[in-house]
Formats: sequence, structure tokens, C-alpha cells
Amino acid sequence: MNKILAFALTAAVSSGAFAQDFPSKPITLVVPFAAGGPTDLVARQLAEALRKPLGGATVVVENAAGAGGTIGATKVARATPDGHTLLVWHIGMAATTSLYRKQQFKPLEDFEYLGMINDVPMTLLGAPKLPAKTYRDFENYIRANGGKLNLAHAGLGSASHLCGLMWQSAVKLDKSMTTIAYRGTGPAMNDLIGGQVDVMCDQTTNTTSQIEAGRVKAFAVTTAKPLSNHKLLKDYPSLQEMGLKGFNLTIWHAMYAPKGTPADVTKKLNDALQVALKDPEFIKRQEALGAVVVNDNRVTPAGHKAYVAGEITKLKTAIDAAGQFAD
Ligand code: ASP
Repeated sequence: MNKILAFALTAAVSSGAFAQDFPSKPITLVVPFAAGGPTDLVARQLAEALRKPLGGATVVVENAAGAGGTIGATKVARATPDGHTLLVWHIGMAATTSLYRKQQFKPLEDFEYLGMINDVPMTLLGAPKLPAKTYRDFENYIRANGGKLNLAHAGLGSASHLCGLMWQSAVKLDKSMTTIAYRGTGPAMNDLIGGQVDVMCDQTTNTTSQIEAGRVKAFAVTTAKPLSNHKLLKDYPSLQEMGLKGFNLTIWHAMYAPKGTPADVTKKLNDALQVALKDPEFIKRQEALGAVVVNDNRVTPAGHKAYVAGEITKLKTAIDAAGQFAD
């Protein structure tokens, strides 16, 4: 055997790169936020749905939180590209590149795109102690007290940060709220319930059960139109209806592998993802949380990548207008 071929074979075997052997060990879904939050929940439900289409493989979730998701994303970008370490992230893949001056990875170059999972609306929430009942009361209260209030989020570039930034910029507050960064909105939710922070905007996957239990106050949804089909959230107005022209923010989640993962492995992963997304149990669990499982071209690697490229451009305009950056 010539030397180059022998080297290629050794490299392929040591990285577990032959699709027929894949998966050869447990698959780790890296969630770049704390456990107990919305991205974590999506990943844990997906891990269960992926098991069967991956031939009974063990699929585990690892939380690598910090810096709005960029720490976990960097970890996956640098992981061995053999399909056993994957990233489950969200709109931050498109947002953080316009927020971090020294981002450690390039969203369109350093990953193999595996496909999108769901679209999730957000809800604008207040601590139970806030005197407001309606969105109008809430906006007036924040206008009058903005400088004294805190807004919780999951780090620069997280969905909650993006939503808070866009909302504050749309309502043109004289005094912005002080932002408090958490490692995820799971822990931030506890502080909102306890009243240590005043305001948070978060995915319905994290907020629905808390609203239902009356632990937090909800004021509006971030989609262009109200969620008229959602049993719990159908009566909340959309921000656009409340006069914030063009406000329309939906958070998507998606799955990625490190760049260089062999094509036959990424195909196996995308095939498994597509089966998981049609699993009635998965769909039911996601719908209960207000999420809509993706059923269009964005479940394909190319379709999702084209969508992210568009999101990067769209979000850059919104972020530049709101202006808040990190190194
Ligand atoms: N919802 C969070 C965010 O704002 C992240 C999380 O904890 O899943 O991006």
C-alpha cells in the first residue's frame, strides 16, 4: 500500500470516519447554555428522538455555557470532526458574528450544517412583583423606571439578549435597563420568578409552563402576529400590534458538526434528524411548548445554511441599529 493511502486510511479509522461504523461511541449534543433552559430542553427532547434513527445509539447532552453560546460553539468547531460531537444552538449562530469583534469561529465556514430543528416564538416577561397587567402598562412602567430596572439575558448574542436589545431600541427608552448576563435563561428564570431581576424575553419553550403556573407575568409575544393557535398564549398581543412596527423575532434551533466531518457521516446525521423531526411524539412535545418543528427546505444542510446567511445579514442591520458589542 502506498504511504499516502495508508495515512489516509489510518486517519479515517482513527477519527471513526467510516459511515458504516458510525456511530461507534456515544454522540454528544453540546448545548452552549446552562441546563434547564430552552435550548437544553430542545436538545434533550431531540436526543431521545434521534436514538432510534441512529440505530439505538446513545445520545447525551453536555452543557458548555458562557458568552452567549460562543464558548460551546467554539468547543464544537474545534472538536474531532467524526460526527460524535455536535452542536445544538440557535439564532445566536447568526447574531453573534455581528456582536463579537473577536469571535473564535466563522459561522459559515467552521461547521458542517446538519439542518434546522424548530422555530420558537418568544414572550416578553416581567417579574411577578411588577405592577403592570397589560403590555401598555408594562411599557409605561419601564419608560418611567427603566434606569432602575434589570433585564436578564443569557449573554451577548443570546436570543434573550437579542430580543431585549431589539425591544429597547424599538420603544426608544430614554434610559436602558441594566442588563444581567446568566449562563442560560434556565437560571435567569429562577431569578425572574424570585424578583431579583425585573424583565426577560425568552423562548416559549422555557416560559410556557411558568406563565401557566402564574410564576411570571407575560405581556406580549415577539412574532408578527399573535399566536392564535396556542392554547395558553393566544390572548397575548404581538409587539407589532402594540405599535412596534416590523418587530418580528422567532428563534430557530439547529444542529451542526465540526467542519471536515465526512460527508457520509453528515448524511447519516441529517437523515436521522429528518426522521426525528417527523416523530409524532417529538412533534407533540415541541408543540406543547409553543415550538413549531421545521418541515421545509431548512431541514437540509444547504437549505439551512442559505437561511443562516440571510439571517446574518438581517440581524446585522438590527444589531447595528441597537449597537452593543463585545470583544
Ligand atoms: N434562551 C436562552 C437565550 O436567550 C438560552 C438558553 O438558556 O437556552 O439564548
